[in-house]
Amino acid sequence: MPEIKKASCLFCSFQCGYAVEVDAGVPVRIDFDAESPNNLGALCTRGHYNLELLIHPRRNLAATVNRRRVPWMSGVTKVAGLLSEIKESAGGDALGVIVGTELSNEDFAAATSFARDVLGTKNIAVAYDGNDYPLLMGGGVGDASPSDLDEADCFVMVGDVFWGHPCIAKRIIESRYKSRTNRIYTLNPYRSNTDWFADRHVVVRPGAEPVVLAGLLTAMNVQGAPKVDLSTAAAAGGLEAGELQAIANGLKEHSKVVVLTSSRLGDSASAYLTGQLSNLLAQKCKGHYAPLFRGGNAVGAFKAVGSSKTAPELLADVSAGKIKGLLVFGPDILQLYPGAVSADALEDLKLLAASALFENDTTKHSDVGLPQAVWTEASGSYSGSMGIETSMEPVTAPQGDALPVKAMLESIAAEMNATLGGGAGAAEHPKLTIDAAAELSRLAGEPSGDGVVLVEGIHPLHRWDGTITGRMSFPKIINPYCDVWIGEEAAGSLGVEGGASVALATERGETSIIATVTDRMPGGLVAFPSYVPDVRGLLKWTLNPATKWFDVAASGAKVTPGT
Ligand code: SF4
Repeated sequence: MPEIKKASCLFCSFQCGYAVEVDAGVPVRIDFDAESPNNLGALCTRGHYNLELLIHPRRNLAATVNRRRVPWMSGVTKVAGLLSEIKESAGGDALGVIVGTELSNEDFAAATSFARDVLGTKNIAVAYDGNDYPLLMGGGVGDASPSDLDEADCFVMVGDVFWGHPCIAKRIIESRYKSRTNRIYTLNPYRSNTDWFADRHVVVRPGAEPVVLAGLLTAMNVQGAPKVDLSTAAAAGGLEAGELQAIANGLKEHSKVVVLTSSRLGDSASAYLTGQLSNLLAQKCKGHYAPLFRGGNAVGAFKAVGSSKTAPELLADVSAGKIKGLLVFGPDILQLYPGAVSADALEDLKLLAASALFENDTTKHSDVGLPQAVWTEASGSYSGSMGIETSMEPVTAPQGDALPVKAMLESIAAEMNATLGGGAGAAEHPKLTIDAAAELSRLAGEPSGDGVVLVEGIHPLHRWDGTITGRMSFPKIINPYCDVWIGEEAAGSLGVEGGASVALATERGETSIIATVTDRMPGGLVAFPSYVPDVRGLLKWTLNPATKWFDVAASGAKVTPGT
């Protein structure tokens, strides 16, 4: 008799609930869970991949040492032995741990305890995707709940909320159409699907979102907010000062405002200020703030794992040879942050041990590979956006030798004659010193240089960096060609035709990609698919010392017709 088991999606922080039909231990069908309190039954394309993940024929299911399959305990013994050797010869500071944002809260607690109590190091960092980290540092986790979406009479959305987190759209659109006076305002560099529903879409320059937000706060005469020149702020959104003032006046007419943000690759100070000013705008409107993150359990990671060292800083230590042994649980750091650390630097480590759902670029350079269980193969709790707390029980048992990260760490600790201590406790995050006035002035400036301006295009078929969803069958069938979006006018002047191949180049290299010519893109703006490794590799990932996070940019970007 088939059973119905409930679980939650971790392809973004909205953590939608769904139901899986399991027949004789085999998951056979995924379907909506109308009882799920946040998504109320909706499930986006990415959510459907949760079934394929469980039955995918190419999962990583055996431990490896030097790329050869070995029994599970051989991998554990190898990791434990090398960790002990490095700790004894170079000290705990020569060791580091990186965790991804799809692990459970229990995994985070175990990793924190392992780093602190077993390795004796503070070098533990979270591999946040996109600008989740600066967004969290700037505005925190927010105070909105899903039911606030139903009661809201006005939404301000920064970023492509609907394609980034599709299942939230239904509640927002339903609320908007409850009354003719309800409003949706959006801030986006191009016309995304979110903006399709906007009463007013502010076509903001990429990275200048906080300038427009500061302009709104200035126009509302909010005390304690950074003051900006209204004309300058309006220009960053392609508006006249009077139009920005009209939006600010409009916001004042609503009593139940929800401000939502969704991060986009780019300038980390911009993301930090977007979080801070979105939160402030929500407070001043006596409404609620709802930041949405790329990492399914980014909120859980932020609460459990401190940032005394962030992932960019830890990877800089790897590149500098300060770290000799690195454990990576979950992310493919070579695809997630291309160029931030080289494959050679990973090869030079005395120990690189990596666990992942699939073999990837990072596991290929690992001394030891450890197969990782999918979240639906283990018990665990997860903290989503908007106060969503999820608790999962296994839908099926882990396949092969795959294990949850907590179980792996317990085995490695036991091999080192140690045990994991108690819970992680509340994470500490050092206060960042961001000069808001100076940053707003910088972000208000026109982009310099020739060529086109690249902006990340959010795609509903893919998880942000493409490391998991790139292996799924549905996008290969439905959208086999990856594309850049180019505006009609720019395409005309560049001699680019829709559907044809173009060369996309930056100072980091060149790749060939299909062009989609669309009226959604203004001016010389080009939206690139960040889930494509080749395209991602064209961007430069630079550690910003103020935000302690990556600034992601492309200089000298050019699009030329393909040959
Ligand atoms: S909206 Fe987010 S959590 Fe919900 S199904 Fe889609 S990717 Fe998963």
